[in-house]
Amino acid sequence: MIIVMKSGAPEMEIDRICTEVTTWGLSPEKIVGRYKVVIGLVGDTAERDPLQLQEISPWIEQVLRVEHPFKRASRDFRHGEPSEIPVATPEGTVYFGQHCPIVTIAGPCSVENEQMIVETARRVKAAGAKFLRGGAYKPRTSPYAFQGHGESALDLLAAAREASGLGIITEVMDAEDIDKITKVADVLQVGARNMQNFALLKKVGAQNKPVLLKRGMSATIDEWLMAAEYVMAAGNPNVILCERGIRTFDRGYTRNTLDLSVVPVLRNLTHLPIVIDPSHGTGWSQYVPAMAKAAVAVGTDGLMIEVHPTPQKALSDGAQSLTPEAFDELMGELGTIGRVVGRWPQEAAVLA
Ligand code: PEP
Ligand code: MN
Repeated sequence: MIIVMKSGAPEMEIDRICTEVTTWGLSPEKIVGRYKVVIGLVGDTAERDPLQLQEISPWIEQVLRVEHPFKRASRDFRHGEPSEIPVATPEGTVYFGQHCPIVTIAGPCSVENEQMIVETARRVKAAGAKFLRGGAYKPRTSPYAFQGHGESALDLLAAAREASGLGIITEVMDAEDIDKITKVADVLQVGARNMQNFALLKKVGAQNKPVLLKRGMSATIDEWLMAAEYVMAAGNPNVILCERGIRTFDRGYTRNTLDLSVVPVLRNLTHLPIVIDPSHGTGWSQYVPAMAKAAVAVGTDGLMIEVHPTPQKALSDGAQSLTPEAFDELMGELGTIGRVVGRWPQEAAVLA
């Protein structure tokens, strides 16, 4: 349920309502939107009559039910207003959101050595990326495949952050690594394979860094939003959703099926920002530009693109990685479409 306050409702009255609903066993969450204050109520509201609730204050405009199983993640919970998620980076705060410039995240699948990660960081920054991605801990299908350099790769990400000024996004696979990773990363990535690792979701929800939550490869949209709800229910409202392709019957020509229809569908369901990953979504570098451009046209809030200085030598996901030169060219093309949809230039993504 949500309580929509009238414009100009006094702060003291909002606090009084929050205290009152707490005595009924509900958890109120005050959401200060651009135009209105909304109080989201989480808990057992089934027996509560919205009209009765409305009578507790003359400053209440409306009381509405949130019909979805996900509450905090639901668009209704913010009375239709999209979230803008601020992420602190060395060069200022970058915002992810429906009314913000598109944010590009780029970098290799795995952090391999200092030279390659620093070089990639500099190149993608020059092309307009705001974040460097790179895995220190890699979820690989085979236990014999390269597993990532682990802790030592975190130091290399720190060096690349320092050298480039980019924010860092890297994956957390094990809750035990969260403290180490948060010292370096500006955003924690939860990978597709861990989307329903509820213990991990609770742990990333109990720390302060924003979370990029990838869609599980066989997850429905409801399951994905319920996973976001886990993070939010544990106390972290800063969740960014990332579509990275799902399993469908045709797996010969592409690695996954990139579900771009999630962008308009999620707009109705959630206030959370959306990032599209055409690299894992297609599995082949030759298909990445077309899908990245389509993602911008369809209204994505961000892109995650794998870039490697020498893709043919990459220790993971080389086939889907763009060279820095191909990334430069793509960013130019994305700018053309991004300007048409009013979500470019990238410079505007940083508000110091
Ligand atoms: C990755 O981003 O490198 C990755 C492993 O992605 P996903 O979890 O989407 O497979
Ligand atoms: Mn990868």
